[in-house]
Amino acid sequence: MIRPDAPVLLEIRDLRASVDEQPILKGVNLMIRAGEIHAVMGRNGSGKSTLSKVLAGHPAYSVTGGSVLYRGEDLLALEPEQRARIGLFLGFQYPIEIPGVSNLEFLRVATNGRRLAQGQEELDTFAFEDLVRERLQVVQMDPAFLERSVNEGFSGGEKKRNEILQMALLEPLVAILDETDSGLDIDALRIVAGGVNHLAGPDNATLLITHYQRLLDVITPDFVHVMAAGRILRTGGKELALELEDRGYDWVDEELASLEAGEAARTPLEVA
Ligand code: ADP
Ligand code: MG
Repeated sequence: MIRPDAPVLLEIRDLRASVDEQPILKGVNLMIRAGEIHAVMGRNGSGKSTLSKVLAGHPAYSVTGGSVLYRGEDLLALEPEQRARIGLFLGFQYPIEIPGVSNLEFLRVATNGRRLAQGQEELDTFAFEDLVRERLQVVQMDPAFLERSVNEGFSGGEKKRNEILQMALLEPLVAILDETDSGLDIDALRIVAGGVNHLAGPDNATLLITHYQRLLDVITPDFVHVMAAGRILRTGGKELALELEDRGYDWVDEELASLEAGEAARTPLEVA
């Protein structure tokens, strides 16, 4: 839902980031207001996961320029766990398995960390079990998954549901979901998308990273951004996703080539 007067939750300005000295993000600009659902699309290797990991504070990625404001606060100055506590959530493309750590306990610690940061009281084991059982319904998950180690031996679809369960418990203000649709069959996709739609509201925002239109058939984005070679090449409404589905990404390559040719032509002048 687009409301021009809604508070800005996330403002990314000319964000640049590298891995192993290799520039990956080359000036990303993006503004997200409360109530909005954004989709970032792009070919494999365009930098989508890098963007999400930089926002979450993954240590392998170094920010080399630009800024990110989260509700007006410098997000990049915060540790990853602080970012999570104040309401930034990242659903991973490849959720990790944590053998030996009970899913229930993991979820309880994470939820309590978030609750404390919001000035709410911590939940004891019993109160948390009540909450988690209620939230399990959002993703139609069997309570048996709570007794297992985090994601250990979970199928691809079960891992993605577990990510949405985390989201349902943490109640983030900005949820970034990286390829939440990948590896899901159509039923799991509906359940996951249903969870995301259920959790999206006027006070929070969702950033969906996907390279398939099919997720956007079930979650309607307010904005679609096309990423290529580490920047956002074009922004539009939901029809832009349909255009990509129709025309593929070849035009993106052409647009990028002409942009880069223009930059190459300008550089000598700037140096001189
Ligand atoms: P996408 O999610 O759009 O497929 P990624 O952000 O995963 O793209 O990757 C963008 C580029 O950055 C790719 O060329 C990828 O190989 C490179 N890259 C990402 N993470 C790393 C890493 N940890 N080490 C080396 N290269 C990386
Ligand atoms: Mg990716």
